[in-house]
Amino acid sequence: MIVRLGIDIGATFVKYGVIDEEGHILFADRAPTRGSEGPKVTLDGIVGCASRMFEWCANAGHRPASVGIGSPGTIHPQTRRVQPPTPNLRTIIGVDIAGVVQSATGLPSVIDNDANCAAWAEHQFGAGRGIDNLVCLTVGSGIGSGFIIEGRIFSGSSGSGAELGHVSIDWQGPLCPCGNQGCLENYTSATALLARANMVAVKSTGELKRQRDQAGGSVSIAGLFAAAHAGDPVARGMLEEAATQFAIGILSAINLLDTEAIIIGGGVADADTQGIWLNSIRDNIHRHAFSDAGKSIPVGKAALGNDAGFIGAAALPIP
Ligand SMILES: [Zn+2]
Repeated sequence: MIVRLGIDIGATFVKYGVIDEEGHILFADRAPTRGSEGPKVTLDGIVGCASRMFEWCANAGHRPASVGIGSPGTIHPQTRRVQPPTPNLRTIIGVDIAGVVQSATGLPSVIDNDANCAAWAEHQFGAGRGIDNLVCLTVGSGIGSGFIIEGRIFSGSSGSGAELGHVSIDWQGPLCPCGNQGCLENYTSATALLARANMVAVKSTGELKRQRDQAGGSVSIAGLFAAAHAGDPVARGMLEEAATQFAIGILSAINLLDTEAIIIGGGVADADTQGIWLNSIRDNIHRHAFSDAGKSIPVGKAALGNDAGFIGAAALPIP
């Protein structure tokens, strides 16, 4: 069988896997990124992941057709090099990772931003299948966003577009590491939610405080949602406020692009097992959207979880 190889470079782990033409995972594994040990170690590790997939394919009798790579940061569309700002993995800035992998494997290799890869995976095989205009958000330690416009990944003229996490919702808001103020990421990422949850948990006497104490003094995302599910008014209020802030940011994209659907994934979406956060985001979007289409736009959960990055990378079109 002809198969495709995908590599998703994260700040801590490189996730990789082999998929068939329908997006089914045939093999998957992960390896430490070792980003603090310099570009050679990181690159050797990435090539090592490709080699392990080659070995697996040879043993299983499959023929790899291409290698796709999902990387943090912005990827220049012509040079394919990783550009600043790439705060989570500075060691790969300026590197042509796809070129290195292509030389090492002899296979056509492509690269794109990791959030774009996740959006592409959902578009091809997941919750966005058959939808040619969509925005896919990954809410974890930061907010990644990928825009599919007319069936293609859109990332702007220099590869740095579609960054919904860095759309400001308050020009006087907190300073973002990107240099702007009030970026969405500073309100609704897991990092921002936990900072707020831990602050309010100190003053709380309810379930949120119990979750915090049980976890050794620091609330987890699962603990925050568990407190909200148990009816803790502080946890519920916090998640509702964060959902409203998130909806305001997402509305900018809907009003600009008139997209057909919004898909939300990542650690925060996964912890929202009862849908209280997602329902609140959807309600706010429908209430405040500009157009009639926006007032009824589908807002759903991503389907492919943590594997979306390497699945989408593997399925990237080969130019
Ligand atoms: Zn920012």
